[in-house]
Amino acid sequence: MIKAEFDKLHLQELNLGCSTGNQWFAKGQLLTSLSPVDGRVIAQVKTATKEDYEEVMERAKAAFLYWRDVPAPHRGELIRQLGNKLRSYKTALGKLVSYEMGKSLQEGLGEVQEMIDICDFAVGLSRQLYGNTIHSERPEHRMYDQYHPLGVVGIITAFNFPVAVWAWNATLALVCGNVIVWKPSEKTPICAVACQQLLNEVLQDNNYPEGLSNLLVADSTMGKLMAEDPRINLLSATGSTNMGKSVAVTVAARLGKYLLELGGNNAIIISPTADLKMTVLAAVFGAVGTAGQRCTTTRRLIVHKSILPAVKEALVKAYSQLKIGNPLDATNHVGPLIDQAAVDNYLAALNAIKEQGGTFLIEGAQLEGFETAYYVQPAIAEVENHFPIVQQETFAPILYLIPYEGEIQEAIEIQNSVAQGLSSAIMTTNIREAELFLSASGSDCGIANVNIGTSGAEIGGAFGGEKDTGGGRESGSDAWKTYMRRQTNTINYSTTLPLAQGIKFDL
Ligand code: NAD
Repeated sequence: MIKAEFDKLHLQELNLGCSTGNQWFAKGQLLTSLSPVDGRVIAQVKTATKEDYEEVMERAKAAFLYWRDVPAPHRGELIRQLGNKLRSYKTALGKLVSYEMGKSLQEGLGEVQEMIDICDFAVGLSRQLYGNTIHSERPEHRMYDQYHPLGVVGIITAFNFPVAVWAWNATLALVCGNVIVWKPSEKTPICAVACQQLLNEVLQDNNYPEGLSNLLVADSTMGKLMAEDPRINLLSATGSTNMGKSVAVTVAARLGKYLLELGGNNAIIISPTADLKMTVLAAVFGAVGTAGQRCTTTRRLIVHKSILPAVKEALVKAYSQLKIGNPLDATNHVGPLIDQAAVDNYLAALNAIKEQGGTFLIEGAQLEGFETAYYVQPAIAEVENHFPIVQQETFAPILYLIPYEGEIQEAIEIQNSVAQGLSSAIMTTNIREAELFLSASGSDCGIANVNIGTSGAEIGGAFGGEKDTGGGRESGSDAWKTYMRRQTNTINYSTTLPLAQGIKFDL
């Protein structure tokens, strides 16, 4: 059944991981993609070599010279067609995401929906890449600023959102007049081949040249090559904070541009006035959705002491109802972790919690009797915020309970006392608490929500976070500006040459 679905994506002949549009090639080693769901081989793809990379960059540079002059609304038309293509392949691609990454089918389909939504956004954007008109201080002068394409945009993506993060970057970069070079996670190469193939079909329908959209299936050494390469005009990299620190140093050394989307350590503050039913739903989905492998996963609950017993009771009840199992079965809530290394990290974190003085409300464990060894029990631990293990992001379903006793300022202080700054939330019905949380003295994260959990986001808003999360913004609002270069223009239509600031220079 699964195979028939995947054949719909026209993947059957593709065992090459490098593409510049019409053409597929690759001279590197074979990479085998195994499903974390049942351990079966999904497919094998040849990886890209350094030589393949040079070929890709040459075609990308040439394609940019053409694409930058195509009017932006025409570039939007390409993305409109991509959105329609994704609509027709939503089920097949959603299933592939679920099978290769391990998230629930609903979340796999949701990820493809996010791709469709960003296509719609980018189509509208293609007629709105606005600059400002500025009043000049000099008579008979006109000033304005405008945005031009940057060139080649490199995109490095993580395994946990194998298709949506590419689409966030690819659609905006393309309507902004750039060409794209994508290095996906080596853990989810087949999702990448499928996306490239769908965009290739649209490019071919429109007779666009090779090199507009490029794929390089390879490991992190290819990412490092991209970071060093001055021909990459913007490098958008999504992944761990360690990866981001390496990319930032390398790109900064060549004074290049980067956009980083890195790890989170997201908290929900639960005030005594919170609606408990909504709170528990938000916390449980936030903590166990995608088996705790979202950058916006809820990792910490900062709970007022007066309601801690009630919150604990509700959480234990909700966790007892969680169904763990094959994520393609819609009745299951929690699927597997991505691989054995992820399970090892999860188990190491459970040990560290004990060693550092934490106690378990729900004990974690690697589960037996499943199709792979990557299914784990979502855990809840009572801890203190300063524990080293709590300070780091463990990419697994471990939820920390941290009490606060006093006013909301104390909870905000705890929430901000981590290195990461991605997503945050407060559950309260007290307007003063909510407004303080959103104020300059409130949450220091890129995303701050009231009465909604930390997990997931709409594409209309700018997405990203501060501090160790990297500071980048993708997706909606004016995030597109990162993908363009700004130019200020002054035009003198008088017959004299007045200088700015009233300076006189008479010859
Ligand atoms: P990872 O850092 O291991 O890998 C991410 C990508 O970076 C992969 O394609 C990998 O090959 C590449 N890479 C690794 N080291 C590199 C280097 N030194 N130079 C260049 N490229 C390199 O991350 P992962 O395990 O795939 O994903 C999980 C992490 O991603 C979590 O920390 C999660 O929070 C984060 N993430 C963040 C966001 C966000 O928007 N903030 C979204 C998704 C995932």
